Amino acid sequence: MRKEREYQICSNCVMDTSDLEITFDSEGVCNHCINFDQVIRLNWFPNKKGEKKLFNHITQIKKSGQNQEYDCILGLSGGIDSAYLAIKAKDWGLRPLVIHVDAGWNSELAVSNIEKIVTHCNYDLHTEVIDWVAMKNLHIAYLKSGVSNQDVPQDHIFFSALYHFATKNKIKYILSGGNIATESIFPASWHGSAMDSINLKAIYKRFGPTEKLKNYKTINFFKYYIYFPFVYKMQVFRPLNFMPYDKKEALKELETIGYKKYEGKHGESIFTKFFQDYYLPKKFGYDKRRPHLSSLIVSGQMERAEAFKELEKPLYDPKKIKNDIVYIEKKLGLNTEELEELIENQNHSFDEFPNWLKYLNLFRFINRIINKILGKKVKVKY
Ligand SMILES: [Zn+2]
Repeated sequence: MRKEREYQICSNCVMDTSDLEITFDSEGVCNHCINFDQVIRLNWFPNKKGEKKLFNHITQIKKSGQNQEYDCILGLSGGIDSAYLAIKAKDWGLRPLVIHVDAGWNSELAVSNIEKIVTHCNYDLHTEVIDWVAMKNLHIAYLKSGVSNQDVPQDHIFFSALYHFATKNKIKYILSGGNIATESIFPASWHGSAMDSINLKAIYKRFGPTEKLKNYKTINFFKYYIYFPFVYKMQVFRPLNFMPYDKKEALKELETIGYKKYEGKHGESIFTKFFQDYYLPKKFGYDKRRPHLSSLIVSGQMERAEAFKELEKPLYDPKKIKNDIVYIEKKLGLNTEELEELIENQNHSFDEFPNWLKYLNLFRFINRIINKILGKKVKVKY
């Protein structure tokens, strides 16, 4: 449950006490800024060193895919990060298997942007259409649960489809548009991992229909933390961390091939837009612009004063959001009162339902012991 705490905002970025776990040093600088400087920055190479590392990685990827139809896999959502990565991959001479996961919420503009990129790069596009009944039941179960992360049904299936396509096609490298320049800060207190399939199944079982979840392939803990990284040796590579990545510049380059900008962030998915601009701020007081703008501040792409100006802007245009909400209601088979009631219901935290945290803690513990015994760090993702 939400505990009240005296309001404070970081003196360096725009993160504030809407992150209940935020801490500040004597200068009023938050733990996110400190973590960026002490930890994250060490893995960020928007410089000459990055150029060399990028070249080495690309060479390695090409080598791994010799004699195969594809050398890597790339998930294309239609958003700027993955779109830009797609055109760069072509410039670098990579041969990605391009996957688009259609979970039912693509905006028309997203579809047209994806087409533009695929045509320009001459890629084969594989679109995985997710069974709508499964998606709809999951969305309603999540809304009923009152947890903050309503994007789990979309996010989980996106990564799950990507991983399964990769193994099916014997591909070891996943190219990801994830990047430090624009999304290094995110408060863990806001929500749990979208990959937590125990949590997803528990929420479905408790709030979903009585029939089993079908036609929705999840990734379990063993596969995600052990099989994919250690047995199959899958590697997730984030090229945008090895080059200067500026979203405005990326957009300009994309526009030369006919790509068009979305209004607001995540305009590629109607549901994600509703979830980030409306559901989260209204129900939980979380404004996702804060971590995003803070990421831009710490990576030197924005002044703090400019971030404040951005935050003053309304989150959405009331007329446009109304249209989106009507669309969402219709698609989910809810009426306005029903959706409103679900939003008004009590908030719950994901960890009030079964989840994989205890396995993750055990895994971390074992990992620490192994590191001690071997005297070196075995890199694992948490
Ligand atoms: Zn800060």
